Amino acid sequence: MSAAGSGSLPGVLSGKLVSQVPLLDVNRGTAPLRDEILAAIARVVDSGRFLHGPEVQELERAVAEMCGVEHAIACASGSDALLLALLALEIGPGHEVIVPSFTFFATASAVTRVGARPVFADIDPRTMNIDPESVRKAITPRTRAIIPVHLFGQCAEMDALVDLARRHKLLVIEDAAQAIGAKYWGRPACSLGAIGCLSFYPTKNLGGLGDGGMLTTTDADLASRLRLYAAHGMSPRYYHKVVGINSRLDTIQAAALGVKLRHLSTWAEQRRANARRYDELLKQAGLDRIVTLPHAEPHSEHVWNQYTIRIPGGQRDATKAQLAERGVGSEVYYPVPLHLQQCFQSLGYRAGSLPETERAAAEVLSLPIFPELTADEQFTVVSRLKEVLAKPAARPASRAA
Ligand SMILES: *Cc1c(COP(=O)(O)O)cnc(C)c1O
Repeated sequence: MSAAGSGSLPGVLSGKLVSQVPLLDVNRGTAPLRDEILAAIARVVDSGRFLHGPEVQELERAVAEMCGVEHAIACASGSDALLLALLALEIGPGHEVIVPSFTFFATASAVTRVGARPVFADIDPRTMNIDPESVRKAITPRTRAIIPVHLFGQCAEMDALVDLARRHKLLVIEDAAQAIGAKYWGRPACSLGAIGCLSFYPTKNLGGLGDGGMLTTTDADLASRLRLYAAHGMSPRYYHKVVGINSRLDTIQAAALGVKLRHLSTWAEQRRANARRYDELLKQAGLDRIVTLPHAEPHSEHVWNQYTIRIPGGQRDATKAQLAERGVGSEVYYPVPLHLQQCFQSLGYRAGSLPETERAAAEVLSLPIFPELTADEQFTVVSRLKEVLAKPAARPASRAA
């Protein structure tokens, strides 16, 4: 195998093969902003206001404006945002919350943490977002809320979900950890339910220099309750109204995020351009006949936190391993659906409970999509994928002489 060189696949846009393509290279995004970020951090260091500095409020205002909501409340992580949302909505023992099983763990663990029961719904196989029809079937008299996840950067089918919620008097909490800046029929993610939850984990579209999160709402009372729960339920100082937690965004994180936020829409546009280029390259390589390309809804503005293809026929894990051997990074989000996780065994789900979720977990593979990814790198990813998928599937050694 040649490490590098130029090449072209039959009928495919030509490009230059490179030897390595990382799944994500955080440094390429940070490097051009290094001086600006360090200057912003230096201001915090000099101010001595390591918590509750003005940068935190500035970031809250900027995120609220971007999400089209009145209030944004910073907290320590996306996981805490979900937990705080449930606490502030007084969801707890005896309640059920409907969540997708095909998501990151925190969506469901927050529900368990407050003493309520996560009820898993299946997904729409095209978008891999929670299926409103499956949600409808999961509603019981104990259901209090639905937490749709805008998976991979594309909004869930919110009109149907909000309509269900209205008819059954349920609350909608958006898990927008992967979807900051995404839109649904022109309306921003985080403005579509009672509360929106964001994460600034470094691999998210707006990544901090560590952990961070934010909550959004248009409801002023809810906003004060979220702030109360994020500050030990304390108001005024040393008087505790409710049992909250300590969840703050450091001023240093807010300062760095404030610098990066100004570039978020450009990065989203670059991610979209990369997604379009993959679509084109994969089709021209004929790979759309072997793998399923991601489906972007026309009414949705996808922000492509991940570009996730589906490789059927039990070939996904071998494909990932063989791409890695050829220097191409890829990842499986997520290999084990939450309803089949050991920690949720007591909830009584089995293999077969959520067929579309289980099929997706066996087939998905996310390819590099970060904003600074080059055309040659994308050409390399698709070329290597074609090499790998063109090879006949490994068979057990035959006894033929
Ligand atoms: C990343 C993520 C979270 C958790 O965010 P953290 O900031 O890492 O705690 C929650 N839900 C989803 C869907 C995520 O992708």
